[in-house]
Amino acid sequence: MRTTKPAFCQSSLCCSPIAPCELLPRGLPGCLVINGVEYAVSLLGYLPPAPRGFVVQGYRLVKGDGETYDVSLVAGRMECDCADWTFCRSRVLSAGPLAHCKHITAVERHLPYRIDLGRPQRAAVAYTYCDLEDL
Ligand SMILES: [Zn+2]
Repeated sequence: MRTTKPAFCQSSLCCSPIAPCELLPRGLPGCLVINGVEYAVSLLGYLPPAPRGFVVQGYRLVKGDGETYDVSLVAGRMECDCADWTFCRSRVLSAGPLAHCKHITAVERHLPYRIDLGRPQRAAVAYTYCDLEDL
């Protein structure tokens, strides 16, 4: 019988992703480093009509070579489409570190917007053009 160990995850957030808004309809990716590998990280979700904020449904992590992983909340638990989660951790029934691949662990550790289906994130405010010039 194979033993599942917690995923090894040394991570840091270089800059946070910016949620899509009226001025930035596609948002701006942030930068997340996991075990020494950089990922461009973007918010997945939708922008409902104003004045509601962006609804976060997940995160997309893209490596430099184009490999892409989506982390999202499905039926009350975090899922990832990487091989580790799909073939190993998806079978772990308990919540917690054994059920999390390194991508989920890093997303939960660093990213500011809670994934919450159907509820707008008030923290994801629109930026002004002055804010964008400083980026
Ligand atoms: Zn993963």
